[in-house]
Amino acid sequence: MSSDTDKKVALVTGASAGIGKATAKAFANRGDIVILSDVDEKRGQAVAEEINADNGEAVFIKADVSNHKTVKKLIEKIESKYGRLNYAFNNAGIEGEQADTADCTFENWDRTIAINLTGVFNCMKYELPIMLKSVGSSIVNTASIAGKVGFNSLPAYCASKGGVIQLTKTAALEYATRSIRINALCPAVIDTEMVQRVTGNDPETFKEFAKLQPMERVGQPEEVADCVLWLCSEHSSFITGQALDVDGGYLAR
Ligand code: NAD
Repeated sequence: MSSDTDKKVALVTGASAGIGKATAKAFANRGDIVILSDVDEKRGQAVAEEINADNGEAVFIKADVSNHKTVKKLIEKIESKYGRLNYAFNNAGIEGEQADTADCTFENWDRTIAINLTGVFNCMKYELPIMLKSVGSSIVNTASIAGKVGFNSLPAYCASKGGVIQLTKTAALEYATRSIRINALCPAVIDTEMVQRVTGNDPETFKEFAKLQPMERVGQPEEVADCVLWLCSEHSSFITGQALDVDGGYLAR
């Protein structure tokens, strides 16, 4: 049995729902200590309690990733409690509003970029220094297939996710010889509340979304979590700077 000081410490942002929640549970099931972070404190606390009740080790710390001051405090709390951070899944994100480029409001543009892209920058800025203190650290950033191809009426979302991929590659190069691997994941349609919102909770639209993937189904959050855990393990030790598609074949066309 490993002691607490042997355990790896993993941070998940956007951990109150969807992909982040599934990944926080997966880290805990593997035996890692998990710090869940989100703006939704009530649901995040509930997920942490669920993990602890299931013999995992989890704490919730509220932080808005778009606010660099709260992200700094989040990392400081992790450092003072655990003295280390081995893995980070920078996943918090929003879909933003749907509107063609000329109709995209400045508010929608600013908010989407602030959370999806600047949020990842804010997290990595404060995670990297503490991660340098451990050997074999790994960061995974959530991008999207929308970071590789365009989607009508989602200019800010697509731009933010394309930015996450480039930010990931740049940081991966910078830290390649310093024992921190940094990769991005590019999911296609995954069965979360975000997709329920985008499809307007309409079962017919959901079916159409499922057909977008060559596998003719949507992905499950646990299937993304499996990829995060692999990237946060020694099984992916020679992999950095990648933007891995988790997309049921979407980008194979
Ligand atoms: P979700 O809406 O189910 O969960 C997102 C979580 O992020 C929520 O708990 C929300 O409270 C949190 N969040 C939002 N703004 C935040 C902020 N400023 N600071 C901290 N937390 C914040 O969505 P999801 O589908 O699980 O999406 C997770 C990530 O995956 C997002 O980055 C999203 O863009 C990306 N993604 C999702 C899909 C999909 O089909 N679901 C596809 C590709 C990429």
